[in-house]
Order: sequence, then C-alpha cells, then structure tokens
Amino acid sequence: MKKFSVNLITNSIIKVIGKGPHSLHEPVLGKKEIEYVSKSIKSNFVSTKGKFVEKFENEIKKFTKSNFVVSTINCTQALFLSLKVLGVKKDDEVLVPALTFVGTVNAISYLGAEPHFIDSTISNLGVDSKKLEIYLMKHTKIKNNKCINKKTGKVIKAIIPVHVFGHACDIEKIVKIARKYKFEVIEDAAECLGSFFKRKHLGTFGKIGCLSFNGNKIITTGGGGAILINNKKIYKKIKHLATTAKLKHSWEYDHDQIGFNFRMPSINAALGFAQLRQIKKFIKSKRNLFLRYQKSFEKVEGVKIFKDNKFEKSNYWLQTLILNTRFKKYKNKILKENFKKKIYLRPAWKLISNLKPYQRKQKMSLSGAKEIYDKVINLPSSQYL
Ligand SMILES: *Cc1c(COP(=O)(O)O)cnc(C)c1O
Repeated sequence: MKKFSVNLITNSIIKVIGKGPHSLHEPVLGKKEIEYVSKSIKSNFVSTKGKFVEKFENEIKKFTKSNFVVSTINCTQALFLSLKVLGVKKDDEVLVPALTFVGTVNAISYLGAEPHFIDSTISNLGVDSKKLEIYLMKHTKIKNNKCINKKTGKVIKAIIPVHVFGHACDIEKIVKIARKYKFEVIEDAAECLGSFFKRKHLGTFGKIGCLSFNGNKIITTGGGGAILINNKKIYKKIKHLATTAKLKHSWEYDHDQIGFNFRMPSINAALGFAQLRQIKKFIKSKRNLFLRYQKSFEKVEGVKIFKDNKFEKSNYWLQTLILNTRFKKYKNKILKENFKKKIYLRPAWKLISNLKPYQRKQKMSLSGAKEIYDKVINLPSSQYL
C-alpha cells in the first residue's frame, strides 16, 4: 500500500488520463452525428413532425426493451409529466432521495406536491430500501388503499428512486415496498441508458422510467429525454399530454385538455439516433476506463473506485472515487488541488434537503446520503479518455 496523500490522488488520476485540462464529462460527436443532423435539415422537417422522432423512439424501445417510449424535451419535464399522469396532485407527498440532481425534486414541486426526503446507502448510492421500509412501517398507515403520512395526514402518492451515476439502486425491493404501501414508482434513470439489473434495463422496473440526453449524459440529443412506459393506457395519456393534447384531425386545431409542448424536435432526435448507434462502443470505453482507474488506485491507502454490484451491469457513466472515513476530510483539498491542474473533479450533489427552497420539507434521518456527500468524488469520465 502507498501512504495516502492528496498528491498521490492527483498523480493516480493523471497516470490514467494524462495531464489536464479534463472536464468531468464531454460528449463525443463526429461524422455520424453530422450526417444524421444534416439529413434532418435537408428534409426541412426539423421539428416534432420530422421522421427522426419516431426512429429514435423505436431504437430506444428496442435497446431498453420497454413496451412504450415517448421522447421529450428533457428528463425534468418527463418526470413532471409522469407524476401528473399517475395522479400526483397538489399537497400529495412524493418520496425522493435527498441525494439526487435538483431536477428530480423540482419536477415534484411543479405540481404543487411535496417532496419527502429519504435516505441513500453508500453500498449502491441509491435509496436505502431497508431504512425506507422501517420508516414507512413507523410513520405511515394505509387507509382506503392509500398510504397516509401519520404526521401530516397527507397521501404519499409516489416514489422516485434514482439510479445514481449509472448504477442500479435496490429497485426490485423498492418496487415491492411500493406495492405493499400502495404508491407508484417512477424511476429517475436519467444517467442510466445502457445499465441493466439482472439483464433488465433500468427504468423498466417501475410503471414509468425517465431518461435524459442532456449534453453530459452517456448519449446526447443536445437536450432531451425519454419516458419508458410499460402500460398502453398510460402511454397514450402521456403522449397526448406531451403533444398539446391535440386531437387527430387533418386540419382542425382541436385540443381536449390543457396539454404541454414537451415532444423532442426531430433535429435533436437525429443527433440522438446517431449517438445511439454507438452506445455499445461508449459503454465499452467507460467500463475500460473504470478498470484503468481501479488499477491505478488499487494500492492507494484509504480510497476505492466504486464498482457495480453482483447482479448489475452498469454503464459506468461517471467514475466514482470513495474516500474512507479517515480521509474524507481531504475531499475539498483534493477537489481544489485538481482544479488548479485543470482536472475538473466534482463532488456528489449537495443534499437537496439543504437547498434553500427545500429546507422545511419532510425528511427522515439522512446519515447515508450525508456519508455519500462527504466521501464521494467523481473523476473525469468522458468517452475519449
Ligand atoms: C441529468 C439529470 C436529470 C435532469 O435531466 P434533464 O434532461 O437535464 O432535465 C434528472 N435527474 C438526474 C439524476 C440527472 O442526472
């Protein structure tokens, strides 16, 4: 073992990826992307009527084996629409990990619903299912087939488990708990295209799962998302509402509800179509990068590179360094020293329950999420590395 030092951490990173500048994650865009985006432009149909939208959705459907897919302008609105279609209303509560990207929680707030923060575990970076079950047993009761928070009297309508950095949370268990406690499961699989648990794609365990194709994700459409849906009725509702609730007619503008303009434009779908053709190559390079980091840090005292669990095949979207309890106090120093060398490491998200708009919301003890925040550093993870 080599003795822990901040310098040793930096050197072990440089040994793998070379000197900076290295950002956390950059997309790889090339000939294929130019070819398909040009096709979209030449067709003149760059908006939601273009043919690339359907093509892209079909490819996502094939790849994830989801029953139905609706592409959207981003993942945040995909989550919002999913909650809405599953009946989440003002004053309902939605369980959500405090350790996630703020968009997950904002989607709940857009409906006037209340986020209720739950804890995560460092073993998989996702919801701590054991702690959740004990918490629900203590703090909720079932009445008229609904889960009631005994303290607030409000209905807990749904849970949004998040698969963090490409790794699966304890999704099977969470689906079971949700069934027992009568709430819906919407998976935030924003970071997880190409990640599987027991050979099933993440985002297809709950009723609905949402993907993101933002510029920093494993594939990008510039901005965009997709909703994976297992049920035809829900699919129809989502597609209808995402498309301004327009009724089919050759020329009339007839809309039967207040809909949304959430569909992905064709020019973005063209970019995604080109990217998706390379997903296997991208995942391979990421798993490869994982192995190289793992090797480089193998003999460094007090740290390890996060590894996927037994039943999982992660896309390794972001590589994750975990400091042990003794050395976690060096986290900021490591971030700072590497920033100076233009190696742009990032910490995990600040707990959402600590952000200004969310400080007064319901929450359980969040010791696991805090542990993750204190110990985790994301390493540069671009495909080109
Ligand atoms: C990126 C991300 C989102 C938001 O996706 P957008 O497409 O940018 O709206 C939501 N949740 C998680 C976990 C993310 O990483």
